[in-house]
Amino acid sequence: MERLEQSGAKELLAWAVSEFGSSLAIATAFQSEGMVIVDIAAQISPHVRVLTLDTGRLPEETYRMIETVRERYGIAVETVSPDPGELEAMVARHGPNLFYREVALRNLCCQVRKVRPLERALGGLNAWVTGLRRDQHDSRADVRKAEEIQGKLKLNPLADWTAGQVSDYIQQHAVPVHPLYAAGYKSIGCAPCTRAVQPGEDERAGRWWWEQDAAKECGIHFSPEGKAERKLDVLLSEILEAKRA
Ligand code: SF4
Repeated sequence: MERLEQSGAKELLAWAVSEFGSSLAIATAFQSEGMVIVDIAAQISPHVRVLTLDTGRLPEETYRMIETVRERYGIAVETVSPDPGELEAMVARHGPNLFYREVALRNLCCQVRKVRPLERALGGLNAWVTGLRRDQHDSRADVRKAEEIQGKLKLNPLADWTAGQVSDYIQQHAVPVHPLYAAGYKSIGCAPCTRAVQPGEDERAGRWWWEQDAAKECGIHFSPEGKAERKLDVLLSEILEAKRA
């Protein structure tokens, strides 16, 4: 692990592609970091797998990026969807826009639409790659380039990159960029939960902007802690019970 920690992004990705082949996938929502990773990986192997979570609430521009990746790199992006029964049970119980009402319900929505589908997709993989960077937000300050989580190797090749390095790479290599950056977005997720940021706001200020003092994370990379996690457990078990009924 320490050797991987010292590797540059290209070196780390080359090692991962050769070590894991088709049991490795890049997970991306087509933000700049993810596109840099796709660009580097596509130079290493045209067969690298790319998957994205289709939550059902993505902005139209993100679907366009799926087409862009296919056209530019010849990669057919694999879309991962929520379980229809879980989704139906959640919407029936809490409504489609539950996330605005309280953090616990927002966490539930992220579990059903993102975290659980990703866990199912990871079931068939040995390793996955994300675009996390340490300086995106305080919650990401300790991100490592390689970590083993529940038996899967999670690689974050850009962990030590700055936003400036990402944008330099994009310019130098003419990497396609998500159209919402031009509208003032700095971090892009589901349409109802993401807005453009104001000058001086941090990169993730536009995510779940109505929440005060909650971690700006969906649970894919960092689980809610303590009371928040216990409340989420209760809400989720109600949904799973409703699905079974
Ligand atoms: Fe649901 Fe919003 Fe999370 Fe998307 S970001 S899964 S819409 S709460």
